[in-house]
Amino acid sequence: MAKEAAHTKADEPVTLVIFGASGDLTQRLLLPGLGTLLKAEPHRRVTLVGAAVDEFDEARWHDLVLDRLREGGARTADARRVASGSRYERIDLLKDVELGRFVESLGTGQVVLYFALPPAVTAKICVLLASMDVPATFRLGLEKPFGTDSASAARLNQVLYRFAAEEQIFRIDHFLGKGAVLNLLGFRFANRIFEPVWNATNIERVEIAFDETLALEGRAGYYDKAGALADMIQSHLLLVCALVAMEDPAAIDDHEFRDLLTHVLRAMRLWQDCPLKASRRARYTAGTIDGADIPNYVDEPGVDPERGTETLAEVTVAIRNSRWAGVPFTLRSGKAMARGCRRIVVTFRPVNHLPAGFEPQPPPANRLVIDMNPERLTLEIMTNGEGDHFELERTSLSADIGPSTLRPYGEILGHIMDGNPILSVRGDMAQECWRIVTPVVEAWRAGEVPLEEYPAGSLGPESWLE
Ligand code: NDP
Repeated sequence: MAKEAAHTKADEPVTLVIFGASGDLTQRLLLPGLGTLLKAEPHRRVTLVGAAVDEFDEARWHDLVLDRLREGGARTADARRVASGSRYERIDLLKDVELGRFVESLGTGQVVLYFALPPAVTAKICVLLASMDVPATFRLGLEKPFGTDSASAARLNQVLYRFAAEEQIFRIDHFLGKGAVLNLLGFRFANRIFEPVWNATNIERVEIAFDETLALEGRAGYYDKAGALADMIQSHLLLVCALVAMEDPAAIDDHEFRDLLTHVLRAMRLWQDCPLKASRRARYTAGTIDGADIPNYVDEPGVDPERGTETLAEVTVAIRNSRWAGVPFTLRSGKAMARGCRRIVVTFRPVNHLPAGFEPQPPPANRLVIDMNPERLTLEIMTNGEGDHFELERTSLSADIGPSTLRPYGEILGHIMDGNPILSVRGDMAQECWRIVTPVVEAWRAGEVPLEEYPAGSLGPESWLE
């Protein structure tokens, strides 16, 4: 993604501190993401500091960093340089004296504090930091979910603003670092053939799905408190939806881009203003995926069945502006599904009139399918049939739009280290995302929307498949 010259600090040395260095995000996504960044920009000067409560010895940390940077594609020499220059601090970040001493030890240069921590721990640390002197050269990377509802997101913003300016705060949505998602911009705004039809007159509905075959994978500690709605729809898919629906920016810079994303988020409401009509939820039971037995979600270690956490969520929103009036945008995400499905599907309205003689009447709709992984764009159009010219056939025009040079976390980390906030979620955007789903959260909490079930490895509850 283009970087504004004013923001670019790629030549300056940066200390990247990862709080939660022993966790899943760090090991599986952050370090390999950094590896892709080092592959693309080997001269970046990064000093890595890992911090967590775990008893990691320095040698194990170095091995882990080396291994994961290389996995991301960094050349061995670059990975070795960063790994051997890195250090690991064993620290309980919830102890203010320990935290204060640690923050002070970082000096006053370019520092990124990346919170790869359970969200509740992040919120508590921010309260502690608010009573400390955090230099204006520090930047904060805050993982999702940002708060647990509108009020807590607003409170967390207020705490952050006590010790950091908005420009220092990078609320992470790594979907904004995905090539296929960023490609929406070029695709939408650089193509004469799509821009004029991108509206309610021509588009019937939009579906954004992020289904995965992965089940809980031992992550009950985080997931059972979040669920699919907060983990995916509130944190990621609403922003993908905003990119699909936003107005065209005068320039792709952080103000203009994020203003317009916020603008369209502000226009979003639940479909028919009714959580019962606009949302569905379900939880997986025992099943099989790719020959492996998956236990019932509620029997997984660490799950509290009383919480009623959903592993499949669907929310439909309306966008109240003249461009999108009457068009449903359906966002869905599920775990332990039969197949991975990470795509945006834009379904166009049928032509106003199809000459008599053509079959079928009415013709199937044109669809534009944007696959996020692998990154591919497919346009489904109707053409004359091969044998009977009046028997219409669906033809697919497909193009690969990737793979991206950087993994999403490489893109995100590069922007934070450069101090370029364009891909970060601004405080008001985070609050808007919660505002949109809050009626759903409340209706689900009150038991107004049934928690359905689906066997792991299926396409969802049977009632959803009609
Ligand atoms: P994990 O539970 O795997 O890791 C949490 C980390 O936080 C561990 O290193 C843990 O250390 C550390 N930690 C917890 N409490 C403290 C404390 N008081 N002081 C110091 N360290 C502490 O969580 P994940 O890595 O999965 O998730 C972290 C964040 O990243 C969450 O907000 C999640 O939503 C987000 N995220 C995760 C993704 C993933 O795929 N994992 C994807 C996208 C976002 P210890 O083990 O020693 O307790």
